[in-house]
Amino acid sequence: MGRKQGSVGFIGLGTMGREMARNLLEAGFAVRAFDVVPTAIEALVALGAEAASGPADAARDADIAITMLPDTPQVEEVVRGAGGLLADPPRGRLVVDMSTISPVAVQRMAAELKGAGIDLLDAPVSGGPVGAKNAALSIMAGGDADAFARARPFFAAMGTTINHVGGPGAGQAVKLCNQLICGINIQAVCEALALGRAFGVDLDQLRQVLLGGSAASWMLDKLGPAMIAGDDAAGFRIDLMLKDLRLVQEQALALSVPLPATALVTSQYVEARAHGEGANGNQALFRVYDRMANQPRPPGNG
Ligand code: NAD
Repeated sequence: MGRKQGSVGFIGLGTMGREMARNLLEAGFAVRAFDVVPTAIEALVALGAEAASGPADAARDADIAITMLPDTPQVEEVVRGAGGLLADPPRGRLVVDMSTISPVAVQRMAAELKGAGIDLLDAPVSGGPVGAKNAALSIMAGGDADAFARARPFFAAMGTTINHVGGPGAGQAVKLCNQLICGINIQAVCEALALGRAFGVDLDQLRQVLLGGSAASWMLDKLGPAMIAGDDAAGFRIDLMLKDLRLVQEQALALSVPLPATALVTSQYVEARAHGEGANGNQALFRVYDRMANQPRPPGNG
């Protein structure tokens, strides 16, 4: 692929970020990368990125700074903290946070950055590690239309479904709706597998049959095999989904929207974390059903 004009400071090279940064490199963009874990930087340097010593060092000479961090506090630290992007902005004066964080925090940071002549887009993603690997993410962006237009070529290297959904925080609002559906859907898949198991039907066949009808879902398709095999490896960690469900509940309370099904599945995620499964993938929610039905299975990664 021909070299693209443009440079990126990429901050946060975890499960998602490393694949997204790799796709930016493969598309021909120059990438200068930072993570608090040095080996994560080294892995990307091996693919052609430059190593940075901190967030500002990653982004100073870049057209765009992209963050892919766990939660709101980490994004606030990288944006507003000492040596952060507000104090020492990217040359292109564009910051794009692709993590899933609080929409209210996004609005606060967007106003603060705007005051310093820097655009902030919230552009969370859906599609999981496989979507990140295949540059097939769904990207939902909030912020100014002009900033979205400037970010679009970079988005195109990481995703296939790219939408501008409104002003600052709107991307996170759409993402929280997405997460609510994902959580409740994982729960529905767990319940179907728990009932099928009790009937003694073959769970692989059950999944195949359901995928051919109106019960088909991304969760059944992508997480079902790991649920059935007892493979808990993340993927998308229980802890991160619990963070997302907390954000959903906070917004629902602030806006006075009852979300009873979300409240129920959130309690099950809390149960999973209490049993030490925070670092496991979301498919480990099926372990909650193991416990409720007294059907213990050996812990494991497949
Ligand atoms: P992750 O924990 O694997 O990666 C986060 C990375 O950020 C880690 O490498 C960590 O070392 C780094 N980091 C933490 N604090 C930092 C700091 N101050 N400066 C620099 N680097 C720092 O998480 P992930 O699974 O890649 O998810 C990232 C975000 O994307 C989260 O908000 C998550 O909710 C969201 N998300 C994840 C998935 C998924 O399937 N994993 C899917 C969609 C969205």
